[in-house]
Amino acid sequence: MKNYILILLSFLLFAGSVNAQRNCGSMEVLDRQLKEDPGMFERMQNIEKQTQAYEKSSHLGQRSVVVIPVVVHVVYQTSAQNISEAQINSQITVLNADFRALNGDLSGVPAEFQPLIADSEVEFCLAKQDPNGLATTGINRKYVNKSSWGTNDDVKKLSKGGINPWDPTKYLNIWVCNIGGGILGYAQFPGGSSATDGVVIGYNYFGTTGAVSPPFDKGRTATHEIGHWLNLRHIWGDTNCGSDLVNDTPTHNAANYGCPAFPHYSTCSGTPKELTMDYMDYTDDACMFMFTQGQKTRMRAVLDGGSRGSLAGSPGCDAPGGGGGSCGTPTGLGASNITATSATVSWSAVSGASSYNLQYKANANGSWTTINTTSTSYGLTGLTASTTYNTQVQAVCSGNSSAYSSQVNFTTLSGSNCTDVYESNNTKATAKTIPVDVNLKALISTTTDVDWFKFNTTSAKKNVKVNMTTLPADYDMKLYKNNTLVAVSENDGTNDEQCISNNNSSTGTFYVYVYGWNGAKDASNCYNLLVTLSASNFRTDGSEDFESLNPVENEFLAWPNPAQNEINIKVPFENQITGDITIFDVTGKMIYTQKLTGSKQSSNFKIDVSNFENGLYFMNWKTNTSNLVQRVIVTK
Ligand SMILES: [Zn+2]
Repeated sequence: MKNYILILLSFLLFAGSVNAQRNCGSMEVLDRQLKEDPGMFERMQNIEKQTQAYEKSSHLGQRSVVVIPVVVHVVYQTSAQNISEAQINSQITVLNADFRALNGDLSGVPAEFQPLIADSEVEFCLAKQDPNGLATTGINRKYVNKSSWGTNDDVKKLSKGGINPWDPTKYLNIWVCNIGGGILGYAQFPGGSSATDGVVIGYNYFGTTGAVSPPFDKGRTATHEIGHWLNLRHIWGDTNCGSDLVNDTPTHNAANYGCPAFPHYSTCSGTPKELTMDYMDYTDDACMFMFTQGQKTRMRAVLDGGSRGSLAGSPGCDAPGGGGGSCGTPTGLGASNITATSATVSWSAVSGASSYNLQYKANANGSWTTINTTSTSYGLTGLTASTTYNTQVQAVCSGNSSAYSSQVNFTTLSGSNCTDVYESNNTKATAKTIPVDVNLKALISTTTDVDWFKFNTTSAKKNVKVNMTTLPADYDMKLYKNNTLVAVSENDGTNDEQCISNNNSSTGTFYVYVYGWNGAKDASNCYNLLVTLSASNFRTDGSEDFESLNPVENEFLAWPNPAQNEINIKVPFENQITGDITIFDVTGKMIYTQKLTGSKQSSNFKIDVSNFENGLYFMNWKTNTSNLVQRVIVTK
């Protein structure tokens, strides 16, 4: 362990002596937020699923330029930190060049990478209208007697002295402050809490004039962070030869700093030339100048109907009041074809309108959902039965938008054909005890509703099968034995799911967790649930979608062993979502460490050991609840 401490010390000394390197806090902030917010991982998974569907869809040619209203919150202690309007405007200018591929330094892209250059069709404006519809400069200033803010999101909280975000469904919030710690900026990825959504940039890394100095004086820190905010990862995937979830970027082995000469070769498989000029690398401002087509598609997925889709309908860039005069407020708003879960809302056309922003919300729920449409009617789906909804509509004209119409309300029908006798069972702690060998009916009534059930096995019948049938929507299931996840059933678009847990050596309490994928629900129709116990093993139906995650509890496998170039590992995530895999040599020196994030699809991982010297190593798997070690041998 002594060697390890020495290495750590020398690393800290090294890191402290290099202060002109880019350092972005986004991944550390993501790790913290995932720990603090148990629902965030699942929300991010759903966004990933939407992104993959978007990447496969024929979206090309259907897009338009999205203009994102920006509010800049300047939180300062010194006059230098209270940056000028000119400095703020210079940053908006950089963003509008970088996200439209209009930046002059684009000519520095090597010929072989030029086909990858993307116009992301995203623009930015300083907000002209605040969330209350009042005129604004889009700049919000606040003196706070605090020298640095760190990356703990305090600057985003009024209760901590900072400034609360404006409605992030309508604005990109940028906080400019002294972050400290050598961090240039950090962003929140899509899927995070709306209370902390946006990006934070150090006052001396923002824009191209005023408080900035080389090598971070070209406004690229904000371009990079807004890339994260639109769901881009670092180009090296934050691990050795990791994936940035984009197909057209070369695999980088690690971050690049400074200004690498072209060509700079990756050490990863195939040794491709690295795209060091990409905004999502760590190079200096003057040496990053492009997004790729694949990165554009990923960003557009969250903007075009994804989790940031409402920004397109935001009136934030328009002066308040629809001062243009040519764009009247829509009239004739009404709802028809009302069912338990849907309704058609329509209104009269407005002369000169290019599109309309329709907003709706449940009467009891404060936040509007905004839909931008060129039609004068819209079919709302996925509504909750027996619920009153508010609607209002606004005409969008060139230059100005009208005021919103007066609200019109409608109430969905009851229509429920089953009674959910198990609510409230939304947490494991409130799981309802259910009988085995009995067909049950239960209901997922809202986008946030989930169901937890529990039952015990007996010494005579230790094998478990759980079937869900007649699913009215895309429901999925996880099965836990005590605190250990033992099976997952996440089929797409089927109307049944099945989990099996065989070879249980002891009796225990099992928990069934039922949830709607991506907010799937049906307030009117129940699903069926049946638990069966058996003395003999259950056979699976052969469906490849079924996977028993963890037939042996706490199974931690590494193969082949001895290994030559690659080790496959299988880790038990149990009820954790992340863990750390660390490899030590026999002297206790840390050779390799990586954070792994778990899901049904990714409990198996590969580690490249081709650069390891022959010898014995210890592989450690650590989560909040387990700490397991395997010995592995590497021979060439
Ligand atoms: Zn970053």
